[in-house]
Amino acid sequence: MADRGKLIILSGPSGVGKSTVVAKTMELRDDLCFSVSVTTRPPRPGEVDGKDYFFISSEQFDRMVENNELLEHASYVQNSYGTPRSFVEDRLEKGFNVILDIEVQGARQVFEKVPDAVSVFVLPPSMQVLEQRLSARGTETEQTIAARLTRARQEIQEADFYQYMIVNDIIDNAAAELNAVITAAHCRFNKSRVLELTK
Ligand code: 5GP
Repeated sequence: MADRGKLIILSGPSGVGKSTVVAKTMELRDDLCFSVSVTTRPPRPGEVDGKDYFFISSEQFDRMVENNELLEHASYVQNSYGTPRSFVEDRLEKGFNVILDIEVQGARQVFEKVPDAVSVFVLPPSMQVLEQRLSARGTETEQTIAARLTRARQEIQEADFYQYMIVNDIIDNAAAELNAVITAAHCRFNKSRVLELTK
């Protein structure tokens, strides 16, 4: 049977380029799965339902919370986001490493439930670059950009419980670093394996 996969929590401010880092890292290894979240946020132009997110109503979201179908959930700039539990469980069981692209509150919840999860915080090279990236996306209003920048500062200040930090300046370097972190997670000392061998 395949070894159980690792749960990788990837956080970082909106606009820092987490999805690009994930996409690039997926090109480097074939044992990675991305967990598609549910959200009540409306889709941005170009976003695909079931690929970027499952776009659902607040009622559907509340029902998933009630039925305990979410591994974690949080609200972010007036919308709700959550990680469907069954997909994550199934893929980990099959030996895939599963990446969660989630914000800090959700990350804390996952850490409590899955203590051997690997946590990575992605930082922008500077706050100016972050602002430029958010504006260049062209999908948010001035007001939303301001709210996301405020939230970004809060998140960076709260990020001291993460195990790894990656600065997303050059995308290929950031992907190589995430790849290395995942490999390192698999090389952690595993007591039960040692016990199994020496039984
Ligand atoms: P965006 O609206 O820019 O796609 O995402 C906003 C924030 O929500 C990002 O920081 C992203 O990581 C986070 N996010 C996306 N999906 C989830 C989720 O399932 N749970 C939590 N807690 N945060 C999420």
